[in-house]
Amino acid sequence: MLHRTLSVATLIASGCLTPLVAYAHPDAHSIADTALTQPAEIVDCTLENGAAAKCAAYTVKFLPETLDIGPFCPATLDEAGGVWDWDGENAGLYRIDRAYLEMLSELGYTFFNNNGEVNVFDIRVEGPEEDHECIAGSLDTSADMSITALIPVTPRKAETPTPLGTVAKVGMGLDGVPVFADAPSVLDTGHMPALDTCGGHVDPGGWYHWHATATDINTVFENENVDATCANVGQDQTAQFGYAFDGFALFGSREADGTLPVGLDECGGHIGPVAGQDGEVYHYHASESFPNLPTCLVGVVAQDNFSTTAAQGIGSANEPGGPSGGRPDFSRPAEALGIEASELMNAIRAEGGRDADLGKVAERLGISEDALKAAMPRRRP
Ligand SMILES: [Zn+2]
Ligand SMILES: [Zn+2]
Repeated sequence: MLHRTLSVATLIASGCLTPLVAYAHPDAHSIADTALTQPAEIVDCTLENGAAAKCAAYTVKFLPETLDIGPFCPATLDEAGGVWDWDGENAGLYRIDRAYLEMLSELGYTFFNNNGEVNVFDIRVEGPEEDHECIAGSLDTSADMSITALIPVTPRKAETPTPLGTVAKVGMGLDGVPVFADAPSVLDTGHMPALDTCGGHVDPGGWYHWHATATDINTVFENENVDATCANVGQDQTAQFGYAFDGFALFGSREADGTLPVGLDECGGHIGPVAGQDGEVYHYHASESFPNLPTCLVGVVAQDNFSTTAAQGIGSANEPGGPSGGRPDFSRPAEALGIEASELMNAIRAEGGRDADLGKVAERLGISEDALKAAMPRRRP
């Protein structure tokens, strides 16, 4: 009886109805139910600048129920896998196929054997056995795997924008999939954490995440002449893709009326009208080149805004030892040596990264080279 006297707007405002369009700022109904492990809620949070605020808390699982993923690594040179943003000589976005892998081989990065079989390893199961392997993570489908993201309900601009470096946390898709900046470079790790043709892959923690604006990635393939199509995610250049961790909305490469956005700032955003909301608000737009994500965040993010129950990977308790995309896991060797993982990682970095002379790393750490070699993950000569 009571509801008859209430307007739709009142019902939406009171939380009784889920709005049909996503608003420019996150609320308890912004993220798809198919990804959530529990209803979203509005909680107290503290922003990075120390201010008290309200945040939407979204707890999601390894993958939304409705999302198909892959392929990532091709099994042989005769197949095509996903895509990779190669940043060495001949830099660009490539389909992972024979032409690309043979080009890399000529540049000294051979990802296949004499039979044309591609070297692949599952980051959750085994370590790489070759110098150059394609990474394909397996999902952690257990019920206790979850990720909690905190996004400010009322976004506030920061004094200066925050740059988004490798695997920096960008935001969350409306589909409930986390979004990160660039995946680790092959030049740094030797290995290729392949993305599927919608721009996502599996974290060492066993959950799927985006490295691109998946709802507008075909625009990038067209613009960069990449022979790939995202078939698993609906494409819409004007649609909202998600929310950045500062609470501002992420849109495709076009405005609601189909025009190109004008007056974008250094991060890729501007103030203007968006569908479903009166007035003008700050929002980000996807670019037409890879990765089609903001390059920095203009707003203030919440403290501890990303955590997961997964044993490793981004947001886990072991994050320094097991970050995304095949960077070596130093936690086990460090434990065996009785030192901190960060100490081991810093010593290896100081001696030149993955090609470091282990003798020099051992000397730096004040331990024997034999002990270090025995503790490190196996590496073929
Ligand atoms: Zn990743
Ligand atoms: Zn706009």
